[in-house]
Amino acid sequence: MTRLSLDEEELFEVALKALKNAHVLWGCRVGAAVQAQNGETYAGCNVESWVSGLGICAERCAIHHALLHGNRKITKIAIVIEGDHINTPRPCGACLQYIRDFGENETKILMAKAQNGKIKPETIQTKTIEEMLPYSINWKTNRS
Ligand SMILES: [Zn+2]
Repeated sequence: MTRLSLDEEELFEVALKALKNAHVLWGCRVGAAVQAQNGETYAGCNVESWVSGLGICAERCAIHHALLHGNRKITKIAIVIEGDHINTPRPCGACLQYIRDFGENETKILMAKAQNGKIKPETIQTKTIEEMLPYSINWKTNRS
């Protein structure tokens, strides 16, 4: 089983709480929580729309929440997904790039499934953004 630090356990709890507020029309509930560089935590949930292209993933919702409060750099993000049709909880490709945009190569992504309002410990996985998106667009690198 993946060992978590205390702040990572708390990040999962914040994501789990946010998941309850997800606006789901056909998909599954997702909650996210980002830890900003200054240690503050910001939650997000997915918001679906009947209009294609609208709505937002929980990860980007949480990052927007951090930005709204003036935090532009994230060090960790926890993602919790509740739904039977998802086997492996993962950010989508767009969110991976977004996490990279507001993180560093070592920004940690913590992923887990939830069931009946609780994290399923056997589903917890942690990766860095560099592991999950090794060929991201990195504006700083491209500009130098
Ligand atoms: Zn996404």
